[in-house]
Amino acid sequence: MTNPQRPVPQPGILDIAPYLPGKSGAPGSKAVKLSANESPLGASPKAIAAFASAAEHLEIYPEGSSRILREALGEVHGIDPARIVCGNGSDDLLHLLAQTYLGEGDEAVMNRYGFSVYPIITMATGAKIVMVEETDYTADVDALLAAVTARTKVIWLANPNNPTGTYLSDAEVRRLHAGLRPDILLVIDSAYAEYVTAADYSVGLHLVGEAENVVMVRTFSKMGLAAARIGWMVAPDHVTDAIHRIRGPFNVNLPAQLAGAAATRDLEFNEKLRAHNAKWRDWLTAELNGNAMRVLPSEANFILVLFPDAETAARAFASLMEGGYIVREVGQSYGINNGLRISIGSEDAMRGVAKILKSMVISQ
Ligand SMILES: *Cc1c(COP(=O)(O)O)cnc(C)c1O
Repeated sequence: MTNPQRPVPQPGILDIAPYLPGKSGAPGSKAVKLSANESPLGASPKAIAAFASAAEHLEIYPEGSSRILREALGEVHGIDPARIVCGNGSDDLLHLLAQTYLGEGDEAVMNRYGFSVYPIITMATGAKIVMVEETDYTADVDALLAAVTARTKVIWLANPNNPTGTYLSDAEVRRLHAGLRPDILLVIDSAYAEYVTAADYSVGLHLVGEAENVVMVRTFSKMGLAAARIGWMVAPDHVTDAIHRIRGPFNVNLPAQLAGAAATRDLEFNEKLRAHNAKWRDWLTAELNGNAMRVLPSEANFILVLFPDAETAARAFASLMEGGYIVREVGQSYGINNGLRISIGSEDAMRGVAKILKSMVISQ
């Protein structure tokens, strides 16, 4: 082969469609951002104070294993800190899992409307992403299992799922796991675990403890610390061992470690956020359902609203924008052309959004 005239990315990289983040307002705009599932109540005041306290020693490298953060998580969640790995957001950990367990010729399986980061991190390794149809916007365990081949190495499962808000019960996740070969890694991405109210849900921690091929990935981003970039993962020893070998040696910065530890212990703030979310998620769902809109039942801190068609969804997006509310379009990233994802925000924002959508004239 002749030498190319410039550096060439590895196979798969240029096939990736770049991640589209939720829109933000123009700098200085007063628009309310309901497009990225951020906390409407800010961050824990204790986390803010802890973050600020790190400013005095920015010249010192952080402790590389995020020990203070792992200890706080271990204490509050009843987990041995040695089984926890922290990351620069959970995206960091998801990338590391892909890099560790996938390569050219391998396949990773996900549900059709699963998190849009999974195809990116899979293809970045040269592996193939296999998208599996869902049943009414919910992951279908039988269909996922049917898609497994001899090449399958990883199953990506966001539970609850983003952008649909739907979830699988503990029994369904266990049924999925029971159907997998022991060499296939089941990644349970419980990014919205804090917001779940369904009684038959499990974050996946028990399964991680019982099996050698299950990991649970979590984030602080949806609980008020998105800017700090903190994720964590609980995994069997052989997985943590592999991830530690390739992760950045100082992958979580010190202000983030301190803020994360304080936020973990601030049970009062976390409860306030959960209660606010549950109340306004139910309220907004009830307000919008009917009126030619269908709201999928959500266990997360957002709802997915389905309109009769793509044109109506675009009109709703424009009306909300005009009213000062930025929501998430899910056509291009997820192929749900008639949907809009709306984060649960402040009471004012929820009332404002409901008023605009309910005043739209929608023909079915
Ligand atoms: C937001 C989100 C994450 C990413 O969280 P970060 O910790 O901010 O990287 C991971 N998985 C799902 C399903 C998410 O919605």
